[in-house]
Amino acid sequence: MTPVSSLPRFKAPRSMSFTPAKWAQSLVRLVPAVSVLMTFAFLARGRFRSFEGLEWADAAVFGLLLLATTLSTIRRVRRSMLHVAVSLRDELELGATGLAVAFVAVALSSELLFPVVYLLMAFLVSFLSRTAGVTLLGTAVLFDAVLTLPDRWGTFLARVTFIGLFAVLYHVVLSARLAVSRTAEDEAVKLRLKEVEERARTFRLVSSGTHDSMPGVKDHEKWLLAAVKEIEGATGSALEVAEVALKAHSVGAFLLTSDDRSLKLHDCRSASEHVQRERFAAGEGIFGALLKRSVPVRMNGQAGLKGVTHYESGGPTVRAVVAVPILEGTGLVRGVLVADRLENHPFTEEDEKLLSTIAGEVLRAIEVERVMGYIRRSRDEKDRFFRAIEELNRASSPEQVFLAVLESARQVAQLDFCAVTLVAEQNGARQHRIVRMSGVTSAGRALEGQTFPDNNGLVANVVRYGAPLPGRDVGAMDRQIIFDDDTQIRGLQSLKIFPLVAGNRILGTLVSGSRRKAAFDDDELRMLEVIAIQAAQAVLRAQLYEQMERMATTDGLTGLLNHRTFQSRFDDAMATAKRYGRKVSVVLTDVDHFKSVNDTYGHPTGDQVLKGVARILRETARDTDVVARYGGEEFCIVMPETDMKGAHAIAERIRDRVLKEVFQTEQGPLKITMSLGVATFPDHGEAKQTLIDLADQCLYFAKRHGRNQSVTVAQLQAQKAS
Ligand code: GH3
Ligand code: MG
Ligand code: MG
Repeated sequence: MTPVSSLPRFKAPRSMSFTPAKWAQSLVRLVPAVSVLMTFAFLARGRFRSFEGLEWADAAVFGLLLLATTLSTIRRVRRSMLHVAVSLRDELELGATGLAVAFVAVALSSELLFPVVYLLMAFLVSFLSRTAGVTLLGTAVLFDAVLTLPDRWGTFLARVTFIGLFAVLYHVVLSARLAVSRTAEDEAVKLRLKEVEERARTFRLVSSGTHDSMPGVKDHEKWLLAAVKEIEGATGSALEVAEVALKAHSVGAFLLTSDDRSLKLHDCRSASEHVQRERFAAGEGIFGALLKRSVPVRMNGQAGLKGVTHYESGGPTVRAVVAVPILEGTGLVRGVLVADRLENHPFTEEDEKLLSTIAGEVLRAIEVERVMGYIRRSRDEKDRFFRAIEELNRASSPEQVFLAVLESARQVAQLDFCAVTLVAEQNGARQHRIVRMSGVTSAGRALEGQTFPDNNGLVANVVRYGAPLPGRDVGAMDRQIIFDDDTQIRGLQSLKIFPLVAGNRILGTLVSGSRRKAAFDDDELRMLEVIAIQAAQAVLRAQLYEQMERMATTDGLTGLLNHRTFQSRFDDAMATAKRYGRKVSVVLTDVDHFKSVNDTYGHPTGDQVLKGVARILRETARDTDVVARYGGEEFCIVMPETDMKGAHAIAERIRDRVLKEVFQTEQGPLKITMSLGVATFPDHGEAKQTLIDLADQCLYFAKRHGRNQSVTVAQLQAQKAS
């Protein structure tokens, strides 16, 4: 039970100056009491016992009584028409004058009309407050006593019993009915709230079913509007119940703003147009006291209450207020629910309890909205997350994977800096490489492609231990070395680096940073972690794919392109040359007397020499040239955009380098020579095979003419001509 506030009740100062009008008013107010007392006195003196015995004095008293009854009735009707609460005095005056009239009628009718008293009593206890009812019950007993006592005790007791019975029965029956209807209202409120939740859930399902169309701003607004409308409806019904049940002038729910300093109207039911709709200070007036101690407050005062802040200036004079805190289960105050009356009719403890119950319902309605908002938000987050994962899984090349990783990470968390690093073993030492990054470093330069050796930085440690770092939010993030000493990322307030783990291998890291403090919540960290795991799988898959592709296109011994790939690359080069009218040359090479190398040093040494030759070819050829192993100890080079002269120059350079190279083998140093043939498109032929055949003929010519030389088709034709 929440304790009732013991705040001082504001009392109206009594006015000391009496005007004639006020004198007259006070006299009129005395008429009911005087008339009832006089009627009582007359009855006690045996008057009003028959019509025949009526005198002028009796008639005058009865007239006064009728006047009093009329005045009380008029006053009562006017008050209820103005929705002003009736005071105890009003109730007593109306009831007592009614009873006096009834008893006069009973006396005049030789008590034949006594049942009228029962009916009147039942009516009075039903419609007046309990205090008034009990007082009037006593009044009826007194009236009855003057009619019956001291002669007829039996009649007196029987009547008193019946009056009491009527009163109690009516009161019980009516209270039960009121309780039933209040329960029904309660049930209705609960049902309405359930309905709201149900409809919101249906709406959510419907909207989540259509998530093919990306949840855009419009969708979001539609959802929010619908939810807010539903909740406003629920709060509204609760306030309506409060308004009717408490006979209040206004009932309003005011919620604290996020800084707890102000209150803002959430919803209200009011006959007044002046309810405060702008935010107002929470710490002032009646609400200030309530919020400070988070206990209900009840107040009343004839002259109007001070400290009423929930009306704007020009608002009505409030004479009774009950306000309860809108409390969360944790005891946190969310706002105030207030009901007021303009008449000085104080709210009861029962009223306060009802308002507290309704405050609970209002809170529930707000909570439901909050939870629905959270569910919707997290559903969007999950949507983005799964789309990001899908994107990652679709990526096939490492480049695509790195791009997708950065994109996914940015989808699930607000990142100002994001990077993927890979680690590789080089000569037994770890080497880290920043393969992709987004966001700008303090120096304004991109770090892509930058490598750094194993060190004590965070990335190196994440790879070393296979666990995310840093473990908790680090205050001075600027002093943290993420990559290496030369590459400082400044201005990050939050940072998390995840290892890219695939199986038992650590491939690299995912670096996520934000300029905001404590930027990542648990959900986001979990999602980033999952992205890191997926990324590792994707990187591994892409690397394997690349490796397979390499194996299918390259030669196992030398690492050069294989014969099949040479053929297709030569096709491509020819097609391009044809389309743009450019030249393309092809060079065929063959090691001289290679059989004897094998014979003298053994096949493995021959292999070593072949690898060395391949290296020289790769190094001497240009990046745009296609270098392939043609077969055995024969190699070929396709040179796009190269005429015969150019191709011959490169062929000579190769021959020269091979000639000068001393191959270090287990059998000691060894030297070899090489013969080469050069053919050029379109000078010597239009078809690929023609050119290869011509180059081969040149090569054969070189062999026959002393080896260790390069021969072009032009030289071949010149020789043939001579
Ligand atoms: P020349 O070309 O100067 O006429 O004499 P050659 O001895 O090099 O003759 P040819 O080109 O016909 O000989 C090719 C030799 O290359 C045959 C084979 O033993 C050797 N060979 C071919 N493929 C490989 C290989 O993969 N490894 C090794 N070690 N030797 C190979
Ligand atoms: Mg050969
Ligand atoms: Mg050879």
